[in-house]
Amino acid sequence: MREMLEDVACNICGSRESVPFLSMGRFVYRKCTRCGLVYQNPRPVFHALRNRYKDNYFSYELQNQENFFHLMKLGLNDIRFDRFYRDSGVGKTFLDIGCATGLLLNDMKNKGWKTKGVEICRESAEYGIKRFGLDIFIGTIEEASLPDQYFDVVHLSHLIEHVPDPRSLLLEVKRILKPGGHMVLTTPNVDGFQARVSRERWRSAIPDHIYLFAKKTMRVLLERTQFHVIKQVSWGGIPVGRGPKVLKLPADRLAKYFNIGDVMLFHCTHA
Ligand SMILES: [Zn+2]
Repeated sequence: MREMLEDVACNICGSRESVPFLSMGRFVYRKCTRCGLVYQNPRPVFHALRNRYKDNYFSYELQNQENFFHLMKLGLNDIRFDRFYRDSGVGKTFLDIGCATGLLLNDMKNKGWKTKGVEICRESAEYGIKRFGLDIFIGTIEEASLPDQYFDVVHLSHLIEHVPDPRSLLLEVKRILKPGGHMVLTTPNVDGFQARVSRERWRSAIPDHIYLFAKKTMRVLLERTQFHVIKQVSWGGIPVGRGPKVLKLPADRLAKYFNIGDVMLFHCTHA
């Protein structure tokens, strides 16, 4: 069945002026001429997007869960997450939006955190609920209507590029985050070395990514939703399986050093 499409304005600045950025055949990314945000336009309406996160998506999540969990842990180590919670997270509240099968939540729960997950893919959420006994809301963060100023940490890994309205997502995170609480967010970097070299062949230029953020555009969005960036890092020089193996380690180191990595992480608090 063909997905119904809609035309949208820039989610950061509201402008409708844009120029073609990447032409993927089935879909097109455009770049806002005012603020530089890269986004699919036109794009599938929300119920069409939502329909994508079914059993096929669950299979993908399940197949990759260990790998994704490993990468999330590396990200948290990178910002020395544990240092912020030296006395461990016992009794503290941790929300993972887009928690998939719940491996990270389960790990945090085992460390004493009070955890909550939000996941739009029913099959993934049910796996986490049954397998690990996790508390996962099935749906969107807005539908979850969580209490004000409740969470010490909100974690969003590879989520924001999938949602139709990133600005409202961040405002919702801000509302439910405690004063002094932390948000940790990761997303592919359209301004990174890989994206620049690969263009249409970039592994993150895929139908489910309706936004492709760069360091600059993400910073503007965070500023406008009143988040303060404590730390920003990026990693990933050459993807596994592309390019000579011997170049991977030095390329990864350079990408990180120059902050032109393939995936970027923002560690934030309320501004
Ligand atoms: Zn814009």
